Amino acid sequence: MQDMKHLIRNVQDFPKKGIGFKDITTLLKRGSSFKDAIDRMASLYNPDDVDVIVGIEARGFIFASALAYKWGKPLVPIRKPGKLPAETVKEEYALEYGCDTIEIHKDAITQSQRVLIVDDLLATGGTMAAAARLIEKLGGRVAGLIFLIELSFLKGVEKLSDYRVDSLIKFDSE
Ligand code: AMP
Repeated sequence: MQDMKHLIRNVQDFPKKGIGFKDITTLLKRGSSFKDAIDRMASLYNPDDVDVIVGIEARGFIFASALAYKWGKPLVPIRKPGKLPAETVKEEYALEYGCDTIEIHKDAITQSQRVLIVDDLLATGGTMAAAARLIEKLGGRVAGLIFLIELSFLKGVEKLSDYRVDSLIKFDSE
């Protein structure tokens, strides 16, 4: 299996000084690599063990929707505040400075549904931990968490220790 790490572009000091932004557009624009990434995500699970795919705004949508299409499964978005039109439930999570909120439609998940949550990148794990809490608030069961990229030096998996976590590309240092 070919390493995909070289397909991710590091953009230093974006969006602010000190951040090494992992740019996935360099992978996406190679059709065969995007397809390969989705196929690898799909191979991690038996689709019969998953009822719903959840994607986190915005880059999580890219991978979650392709996976949902591949498996023919329902797709549910988790979004930033004020974007979803119907009744929502919300979760707050801490950022380096301040906090942020994500939300999901209240009727998006039904009791005991097995949910796979997908995002592009695991950094501190705050966003994904909040997403998992949202699913559980609605009575869903988190079947697992999939990331394209994991910044393993930030130890985000420690915040997600209750769940199965998979990532296709790992960066051990900045
Ligand atoms: P966290 O909650 O710290 O795990 O941050 C994860 C979210 O922030 C993901 O949705 C990523 O898209 C984004 N993110 C955090 N750090 C980076 C980075 N170095 N490069 C690209 N995206 C990032």
